[in-house]
Amino acid sequence: MSDCIFCKIANKEINTELVYESEKVVAFKDINPKAPIHVLVIPKKHIETVMDIKDEDKEIISDMYKAIREIAKELNIDEKGFRIITNCKEDGGQEVMHLHMHMLAGKKLSTNII
Ligand code: AMP
Ligand code: ZN
Repeated sequence: MSDCIFCKIANKEINTELVYESEKVVAFKDINPKAPIHVLVIPKKHIETVMDIKDEDKEIISDMYKAIREIAKELNIDEKGFRIITNCKEDGGQEVMHLHMHMLAGKKLSTNII
């Protein structure tokens, strides 16, 4: 997707410091952090929303969770923990239409999510 900002980050057309990269996944810091640690984990493949994930993408989804485990260890939040959020479409508050997982950490997070 030529006009997708997260595709541009994954393809390195936009110079963003990556905190993680593997064959199918990259991660980088959110530009507008909502917690002391706020990382976005995305597939290199352009998948718009959770509703567009296909069975053939299962390795990508598995690799996104692998990325999260490795990032958590790297950032020393594996013991205290973190929250993973994926917003889906309009009512979910999804602004960037390229699948991503928010990884939030660094303090005791509020459970008030609605
Ligand atoms: P969502 O509302 O779930 O689609 O989240 C999109 C997230 O992407 C927001 O938290 C934004 O702050 C973040 N974001 C948008 N553009 C960039 C960018 N160029 N680099 C890093 N984070 C971004
Ligand atoms: Zn994209």
